Amino acid sequence: MAKKNSGPTLTRDKKSRVSAAEMSPRARPGAPTAVSTGLLIVNGRIFTGGADFELLEGHGVLIEDGHVAKIAPLADLPARGVRRIDARGKLVMPGLINAHMHFYSTLVRGLSKANPAHDFNGVLRNLWWRLDRKLTLEDTYSSALLMMLAAIRKGTTTLVDHHASPGAIPRSLEMIAKAGLETGLRIGLAYEVSDRDGPQAAAEGLAENADAARFCRERGGAHLRALVGLHASFTLSDETLARAAALAAELGVGCHIHCAEASSDQEDCLARYGIRVVERLRRAGILGPKTITAHAVHVDRAEIETLAETETMVVHNPQSNLNNAVGIADLTAMKAAGVLVGLGTDAMTVDMLEELRVAVWAQHFGRRDPAQGFTEATGALFSGNPAIAERVWGLPLGRLREGAPADIILADYDPPTPLDAGSVLGHLVYGVSQSAVDTTIAAGRVLMEGKRVKLNIDEERVAARGRELAAALWKRF
Ligand SMILES: [Zn+2]
Repeated sequence: MAKKNSGPTLTRDKKSRVSAAEMSPRARPGAPTAVSTGLLIVNGRIFTGGADFELLEGHGVLIEDGHVAKIAPLADLPARGVRRIDARGKLVMPGLINAHMHFYSTLVRGLSKANPAHDFNGVLRNLWWRLDRKLTLEDTYSSALLMMLAAIRKGTTTLVDHHASPGAIPRSLEMIAKAGLETGLRIGLAYEVSDRDGPQAAAEGLAENADAARFCRERGGAHLRALVGLHASFTLSDETLARAAALAAELGVGCHIHCAEASSDQEDCLARYGIRVVERLRRAGILGPKTITAHAVHVDRAEIETLAETETMVVHNPQSNLNNAVGIADLTAMKAAGVLVGLGTDAMTVDMLEELRVAVWAQHFGRRDPAQGFTEATGALFSGNPAIAERVWGLPLGRLREGAPADIILADYDPPTPLDAGSVLGHLVYGVSQSAVDTTIAAGRVLMEGKRVKLNIDEERVAARGRELAAALWKRF
């Protein structure tokens, strides 16, 4: 997606841009294997997901035209004429959703050159802001593709990304969109607008979000969606916030912003504006049912009520919060107030069941009570994330229901203890999270089967190029 004033979007210049034909999964050799009709999953136990989940035995799932056509006892499903996937010894469940992520963090794994930081702003200054300024467009594409391949292996079929590359903003979301269409996953795009790199970078960031939204509407189909990305209150002027809110309203999309991740965000807001972060975002017109606020670790009771009243979505990222030692969000208070809370990884990983385990433990620890937080954490992943994805995509994602998009995974899981609707959440946290994902299907396409990725992508070559780019990036860092 080109910067507004740098000319056309995807189709005009074939040499320097990715053409629409190249990006179409069906038109290019790297496209996912299409299994759009007649796929029947049999012999597995089925966890349907969503707030009213069921655990079904003796049922099969029939997929037709990218959707779940039927979930029924085997006797009521076609005996022949459709390809079968045998799920014996496996748990069949909805594809997992990661509601807040930064793909570019892929190239940071193992980087040890950053000076130790003793607070969150130090982590940003010493690591992330030094790194993201050095990202090239190829770094952005490569890191996104690598992380998407990892997501397929971990059964994550929908990811909401939040991208920053201040040295290479125009077309950066196009790179992520390209990787998304090549892998067949559902990707939410946003460029992290900030005033930290000056007015030109802020303007370019806004333009990049606008171009992404237009592209998603025209070419994203059921796979790509855009939000207007914003970094956080403490790096955004009132003017930029106002421009972002106006842009989101014009485009008919929500915003995606970090909110009260560390206490320093609140301290900055109180010192400069005399109000707390959530109130500042509310007054700026950023909040609302289409907006994602990531973290909300340091929000008080009044702010939680504002998030609930405005129906703003909150995404909890416990591994990141613990790693940065910023604190633990109070999921119990948010759920009690009626806030829609989901789960994300924020960076470096895409394993949502691992994130869920950490979420459960963090809630236990945060309240110093092992009886609290389990329902809130599991609810964030299995009913919060589907509700968030439905608001962003306008599709009933994350739930196995007849008529829903066929985003389905099969995990190796044959437990030695009873598995039913009453026990399945405990199995997911303590058992399935330790199992391998065997099969990943998105929009009815088999992206991985028998633990082998079925895309026409040379994974070794992609990984080798990623290592070259990471080594060069680390040198520039
Ligand atoms: Zn983040």
